[in-house]
Order: sequence, then structure tokens, then C-alpha cells
Amino acid sequence: MGLRKGDVIGAYSISHDVKEEYNNMAVFGWTVLMSAAFIAMLACARIGAVHSVVFGGFAAHNLALRIDDAQPKLLICADAGMRAGKVLPYKPLVDAACDEARYAPPKVLIVHRGLDQELNLKPNRDVEYAPLRARHQGAEVPVAWLESNEPSYILYTSGTTGKPKGVQRDVGGHAVALALSMRTVFDVGPGQTMFSTSDVGWAVGHSYNVYGPLLVGATSLLYEGLPIHPDPGIWWQLCEQYQVRTMFSSPTAIRVLKKYATAWLKKYDLPAFRWLFLAGEPLDEPTSHWINDGLGKPVIDNYWQTETGWPVLALLPGMDLKPVKFGSPGLPNLGYKLRVINDASGIDAEPGEKGILTIVPPLPPGCLTTIWHDDSRFLSSYFEHFKDLLYNTLDWAVRDEEGYTFILGRTDDVINVAGHRLGTREIEEAAASHSGVAEAAAIGVQDALKGQVPVLFVTLKQSLDEASSRHETTQQIQQKVVEMLGAIARPARTYLVHSLPKTRSGKLLRRLLTALAENADPGDLSTLDDPAAVDEISKALARGPD
Ligand code: AMP
Repeated sequence: MGLRKGDVIGAYSISHDVKEEYNNMAVFGWTVLMSAAFIAMLACARIGAVHSVVFGGFAAHNLALRIDDAQPKLLICADAGMRAGKVLPYKPLVDAACDEARYAPPKVLIVHRGLDQELNLKPNRDVEYAPLRARHQGAEVPVAWLESNEPSYILYTSGTTGKPKGVQRDVGGHAVALALSMRTVFDVGPGQTMFSTSDVGWAVGHSYNVYGPLLVGATSLLYEGLPIHPDPGIWWQLCEQYQVRTMFSSPTAIRVLKKYATAWLKKYDLPAFRWLFLAGEPLDEPTSHWINDGLGKPVIDNYWQTETGWPVLALLPGMDLKPVKFGSPGLPNLGYKLRVINDASGIDAEPGEKGILTIVPPLPPGCLTTIWHDDSRFLSSYFEHFKDLLYNTLDWAVRDEEGYTFILGRTDDVINVAGHRLGTREIEEAAASHSGVAEAAAIGVQDALKGQVPVLFVTLKQSLDEASSRHETTQQIQQKVVEMLGAIARPARTYLVHSLPKTRSGKLLRRLLTALAENADPGDLSTLDDPAAVDEISKALARGPD
């Protein structure tokens, strides 16, 4: 295909320090084609191309946004994915995204798994993988050696605007951080097996399915599908079969398993299994105890972000395991100097005092080096809130006397649904694209299974009285969100109201909506423009979703 060092495979681009010849390429839909995704990523690394993997659960619009930001030279996708025995076609999504995008990739490479017979190949654009592979079988492709600061990949994540941020990672520092953490944090070395249940489209998938294990000569176990299919013991069966030493998953996945008998956890013999790591969202104590008691193995929380690429807060079982404190992901990881800053005073919070978690610069190796093609957004998103150029994690935190840090939730309008990060602005923009919607406000509300779920408040251009037409309208709005962002963003509840609570300067008070939806103290209402809006929201919540 004539790809060269620096080409982007998937959908992404680079910052000013990258030479002109660097173009882009994107990989989409690898969620259910893990091994091919894995190979595509490593192939990019070999030729020095920049990859950008996009989660297969996203909708076409989300992919189009990423394509336009990254401007890839090639997009690779599967014909379809499989989830719990159900075929999920990808090619139509890719076609729709390419139609919507301004910078559609000139070539699309399709790995045909035979799941979707209707490939609808586009002449001059679409190329099938199998014949191409047969033609080049056995070819020796030389390694492209890169300077350590050159980009290795871009991974998009949600921020406070509707436009996702392209987290850009380097080559050298990234490899050093992953190799170190494989030993110190995850306690995995040569010949041992790590099983990360993440989708390859997330940061954990990049770091601990693909690159981390291979960098230390370990085996990475890949699993395509749900933890309860064909039965809720499938993960433990695989752990027994492949002698997994360290497993990495999310609290939500464990909460899904919690609905099934604990007998599934005890059915298999796991002598090699040492640690279960959980991350991506707060780990609640009942879930931690349930899995710890059921498996009889230590459960280790750890905290990080797409931006950091490896744990910020951790315990180090591979080095010196400190005691677990429930509710805390642990202590600052190697290479991280952290400060908790009181947001009002701007000075360091005392132990026990809530503040914003920051990283003292320079960021450790492995963390993002910039936002793709947007150095100024990199600075304004993370470094302009405090003096000393502190990196703002945008998470509330509190530290105890011993340095254990507890994460108390985001300071911005980002929500965490089943460990997936979503921007409320993205959801609002998708809802507002429904022709009847005047304005939308999305918030994250606590949920026993998913941690948080999106809840939507909408004002309409024309008022509707009939309950049935109200219901039909909310269903359409919710469907619009799914069409544009994917099923993970589907609002759990939608309320139609006449006005949304705003400050006198017109700023939407999402935090007030969250407090009302969670029956919490709404706090200071003095900045509110129209107090009647609060009354109406309370009544709507009491009445139930439309
Ligand atoms: P993501 O970039 O999607 O990995 O999301 C990162 C965000 O998830 C963080 O900023 C936190 O808000 C949250 N998060 C990740 N790990 C944890 C954890 N162990 N405990 C609490 N929150 C977490």
C-alpha cells in the first residue's frame, strides 16, 4: 500500500515537532478482532507509522470526528464483530463515517471474517486483506528505528468540549514506563501470562494487552466477547487453561459477574493466578470483597487516565507490596510526584482535606507528550490551572497521613460509564441534533452496576402535552444519541422540561442537576438565574422520565 514511516494508520495526526512526511492511519473496529488489531498495531510500530485505534462500539459520527482530526492515510476495519453470538457489522459504520468526514482516508483495508457477507466494496478505495496478505506472504519488512520522542500512537479521549482529544504518546519513554510497570506494578516477567480484559480501543488495551506484556517477553491473553458468554465462568476457565498470573479488569465487569453464583469463581483451579488488578473507575468495597472472597486472590485497585497511559496511583506487588486500604488506589507510582491542591487557595491541601490531584512536571515517561496537532489545547487543558505548571488530572482527591490517595470524582464535565469516559458535551450535541430539541443538558448519575449512567434534560422547540408523544420524542432523542455516539452513551433517562438551570451569565449548572438527580444538597443557589427551573427539575425527577 506504499505506507511509510510516520504514516498514520487509523485516523490520526501529529504535533509541530513531527516532520511533514508524517501522515496518518487509523484502525477501527478491533474490539472483536483483537488478534488482527494487535497485528495491525505492531505492524505500524515496525514501519514507524502512527496508529489510532477507535473503539468498535462507537457510532459512525464518533469515528468521523476522529478521522477528521487525524486525517489518516489508511483505515483498517473488520467486516463485523461478534458480541455474545450476535454479529455487529462494522463496514456500514465505516462507510457512513467516511461519507460524513471531510478528510476520509483514501484507502480502507478490510479484514473479512466472513461474518457479514454484504461487504459492498468501494472501487479504488476498499482493499481486502486476505489477497493482499497472500501476495506479500514472507516479505521481509525492515524495522524503522525512531528517535525516542517521535510519536507512536494517538488515542482519542473525551474532554469537556464535544471534540475528542487526541492523546499522543512517544516511543522511548512509553516503552520504558510500560516495561517498568510490567515488573513493579503488575508483577509479570518473561514466560508469564497476563490477561487484560480491556478492549484494545482503550488505553489499558494499548498498554497491557499489546505493548507491555510483549516488551518484557510475557504472553498476552486476548479475549473477544462478554464475561458471561458462553457462561459466567469463561474468564476463570481461560485463566486456568493459560495459567494466567496477573489479570487486569474493571469494577464494572466484576459487578456484572456479581449477578451470578460465586460457584463460578471457584470452579477452576488457579494455582498460577497471583493478582487481580482493577482500574478505570472507583472500586467499591462490596465489589472488591466479593471478588476477593470468591477467588481467594488479592485484588489491587490502581488509578490512571488515558493521558498517563500507566498507573499514577498503585501498589507495587512486583517490588514491595504495601497494605491495601479499601477505597484508595494506593500511593504515587514510581516516577510520579503528586500534589493535592486546594482549588480555592491554590496551595497544597492538608492530609484529609479535599483538593485537586496534580502531577508535578515534568510528566513521567509514558504520559502524553501533547494533543495531536494541538499543543495549545494540551497546555490549556492540563497546565494552566495552577502555578508551577502542575498537570491537572481534573480529579478531586484526598490524601491521608501515609500518602494513600482517595479519588473523589471528576472536577470537569466528564462522566464515567462502566469505566468508559464520555463528555457530557458530546451527549448534549448529539441530542441537540434532533430537530425538535432546543437545548440539552447531560449529567452522570450514580448507578449500582455501571458506576454512572448518562441522564438527559431537554427543552423542546415546541411544547408537547400528550404523555405518549413526550415518550416518543424522548425515545427518538435517545436513539439519536446512540446513532451518533454509540450504545454506551444512551441516556438511561430523559426528562423534557421548559427550562434548564443556568447562572445569570448563562452557564449551564450541570452540577446542580446532578445534585437534584442524586438527592444531594444542591449547594449555593445564589448564582441561579431562574429559581423556578429548580422546582421544575425536582418535579420532573419525582414524576419520572418521559
Ligand atoms: P480514562 O481516561 O477513560 O481511563 O478515565 C480516567 C478517569 O477514570 C480518571 O480521571 C478518574 O476519574 C477515573 N478513574 C480511573 N481509575 C480510577 C480508580 N482506580 N479509582 C477512581 N477513579 C478512577
